[in-house]
Parts: sequence; structure tokens; C-alpha cells
Amino acid sequence: MAKRLAIAKFAHESNSFTPGETCDADFHAYGWHRGDEAAVHYSGTRTSIGAAIDFLGLHPEWQETFLICTAANPAGPVADATFERIMGEILGGLRGQTWDAVYLCLHGAMLRAGNPKADEEIIDRVRQVVGRTPIGVSYDLHGNLGEAQVKNATVAVGYKTHPHVDMYETTEKTLRLLIGTVEGRFRPVGAFARVEALLPSFNMRTTGDGPMAELEAIAAEAEKRHGLLDVTVFGGFPYADTPYAGGSVMVHADGDAALAERVAREVAAEALKRAPRFQVELPSAEEAIRQALASPPGVAVVLENSDNPGSGGIGDTTGLFGALMVAKPKVPTAFAFFRDEALVAKAHAAGVGATLDVSLGGRISARFGDPVPVRGKVTMLTDGRFRNVGPMSTNLEVDLGHTAVLDVDRVKVILTEHCLTPNDPGFLLMHGIDPAKLRLLCVKAKNHFRAAFTPYATTMVDCDSPGPAALSLKHFKFRHVPVALRP
Ligand SMILES: [Zn+2]
Repeated sequence: MAKRLAIAKFAHESNSFTPGETCDADFHAYGWHRGDEAAVHYSGTRTSIGAAIDFLGLHPEWQETFLICTAANPAGPVADATFERIMGEILGGLRGQTWDAVYLCLHGAMLRAGNPKADEEIIDRVRQVVGRTPIGVSYDLHGNLGEAQVKNATVAVGYKTHPHVDMYETTEKTLRLLIGTVEGRFRPVGAFARVEALLPSFNMRTTGDGPMAELEAIAAEAEKRHGLLDVTVFGGFPYADTPYAGGSVMVHADGDAALAERVAREVAAEALKRAPRFQVELPSAEEAIRQALASPPGVAVVLENSDNPGSGGIGDTTGLFGALMVAKPKVPTAFAFFRDEALVAKAHAAGVGATLDVSLGGRISARFGDPVPVRGKVTMLTDGRFRNVGPMSTNLEVDLGHTAVLDVDRVKVILTEHCLTPNDPGFLLMHGIDPAKLRLLCVKAKNHFRAAFTPYATTMVDCDSPGPAALSLKHFKFRHVPVALRP
């Protein structure tokens, strides 16, 4: 008889400083699939669930059941009622049946309004239902973990890359270890060590030669040398205000608990040594635009990290856009993006060719800059759907809601209904903007943007400006982060 594997995805990176809570509608907008529908949606994609589908295709002796597979864009803490509804889907699906293994696809930096250790709670409650059934968990590199959740899972693996181009491989490895455990090939024992430092995620790329790249190399070398099942370094997500904030290291050994503990401590010590190198400074929006326009010919990009939706940004702050309106560049320029449902509806009602006098940004919160009044001409309207063409979640369909392009002083400004980071060239191409033909591209984005746009850009300048994911953590009031780690 085939062995039975239950699969659930419940992933969220929660930012304590993003206005509002993350509710049912946010999960539905980003992806809400269960049963065979999940298999259809993710089949053929380079995603975690896509990897599970492919892996199980090669293991016909296992029969998978998709419970809920959902995630929401990084934003405020998950509303308690939403958390309970999704947990109800997972636990209700598990109850009253016999499973040989459970795979949970989590992020690791989820907060819910009533509990800043939400991922730990998910594993706890699943464990209560399935008893000793092996549970495998996959995490994002930005997870904020605690010891209990590592011990409570049977085996777990986190991403090794940032930008995250190994989601697929991470799930593949998690399932290989999980199924191997059920079939008696592995005896995983987990160890966990905290890195006593709150690490800003800006200088956390694993491409190039930064501190995170060094740590990944150290972890990979330790894994290989000691024959460990997995060594994961978590950079953490500093905008999630939780007692688990900060970097950490998770190690799984095959039977040798002492070895796992020792390697976790050693790699964590290497991470702590490098903590100061994660602290960097960035130019203001004004200065970043100046540098971009003075850069060698080609496409120059200015990235507004502080309002990157992938870090809890709201598509609404005006630091970079305000500076762009003052700079008035006389070169082909695009700005991605503002999220403004009402304005998109107004543009659709007015039609292509209409001239609108409107305010951009500063709508959801005035804390991060005043609205910018502009006169613009509607030059394009879309239904906001495209498929990713870049290396992250390749081929996955993205839904921006309805969108519009407003030409403001020759700057093409993209307006959307949903709040998603313009990390894929498809985001621009569907708006008739060929990134290769721009001189200046201003985006609300951060590191992940580079995965797809490095081939287009000759210059990329990151800036810091007010926003829910501003680089400098000094602006934020932490309540749960251990006092010793606060900036
Ligand atoms: Zn991440």
C-alpha cells in the first residue's frame, strides 16, 4: 500500500511596522489552493510546491494529499481569526486519518497578532494532532527561529541563497530527508544556536563576497566535512518584532546529536563575528538619483528598499518618487510602483488618453512622506496578469489586480491594485516598458530584484528613505526583541 504524505503551505513574513494586519483576503489574493487544485496551480513551476509535485512524481510509492497551500505578501502580523482559519484547514485535514509523514512549507518569520512565535505554534499544533509521525519543514533564509520548533520538527531545511533561487532545491532536500527518515535511511537529530545580533537584511546577499556568502560557504563546508544532513544559516527578518529575532543556525545530523550541537555553535560563532559587516549605510533618495544619472551609459536602477513589498512595504511611501519629481530627469524613466486601488479604478474609468490631476502615495500612511500631487496622462490599462520570466518562481502566474500607467513629466508611473514587488521583468513588459530601453528605473524593491535585472542594469543604487522596511532599525520601537539585540 502506498505511504501517505500530507502537504501544507502556510507562509508569511510579518513586518511589525507595516500598518494593518494580514487578513483572509491577503492570503486569497496571493495564493489559496487545496487538493488537486494545488497540484494544477504549481505544476511545472520552480517553487516549493512545484518541487514537491516533481519529487512525488518520482516516488510513486508515496501518495500525496495537498491540504491548504497559501501564503500572503509580507505585511503586518497575521490576524488571529485568519491564523485560526488556516490552522483549521491544516488540522482538520490531518485529523482522523493515518499519515506516514507531514511536510510543512513555512517561512519562519510569521507573527500573528496574539503570538510573535507563530511558526513555532504551527508546528506545535500539528505535532499534537499527528503524534510521532515525522514532520519535515522548509524555511526561508529570513526565518526567526527558536530551539523548541527545531526540536519539535523531525527534520527541517532552509534556503541557502538570497535572492532566493533555491526554493525548489530546499523542498526537494526536505522531502528527501523526510521520506528517507520514514523509510529508515536517516535518523535526523536537530540542533539550534542563536546568533545574538539583529542583522539588517540589506547586506545579506549570497551572491558576490559579502558576509552571508561567506557564512553559506562555511555552512556548506561543515555539512560536507561532517557528513551532516543539513546546515542552514538564518539571517532573520529584523522587522518582525519577536523574542526570536536575530540570526540563527540550524543543523541536522544523522544520529549524532553532539556533532549537530557542536557545528551549530561553531557556525553561529562565525556569524556573530561577521555581524558588524551586515551594518551598512545607504545614500538618500536624492543622492541615489544623482548617482544613477551620473553613472556610465546603460540602464541605471534606483532601489527604494524601505517600501519593498517583499519586506512588508506598502507601495505607498513617497521618498523616492518625491525626489524623482524634483530631479525631473530628461531621459527615459519608469517608476514601479504605487498601489492605489481607487486611482487605478479612476484611470480605467477615464480611459487611455485621459489627463488626471491626482496625488500619488502617502495614502495608506502619512508617517512615511506626504502625498505628491501630479498631473498625468493615462497611457495604458491592463488586467495585471503575467507569468514570471526571471529566475525566481519562474513561470508562476502573478496577479497585480487591475493596473494603469500614468505618464507624469515623461516618467512612466505604474499603478496597481495589489502590492507586489516588481522583481520580474514581466512586471514592466506587460506595461509596455522594455527595461533594456530605459535610462533610469526607480523601483520599490530590494535584493531579490537583482536576480532577474542584473543582466539589464549597468548600475544599481540602493537608497534609504522613510518606510516600514527602512534600513536603519533605529527608527523602530521594538517590544519583543531581546533588549540586548535592540539597535
Ligand atoms: Zn526571504
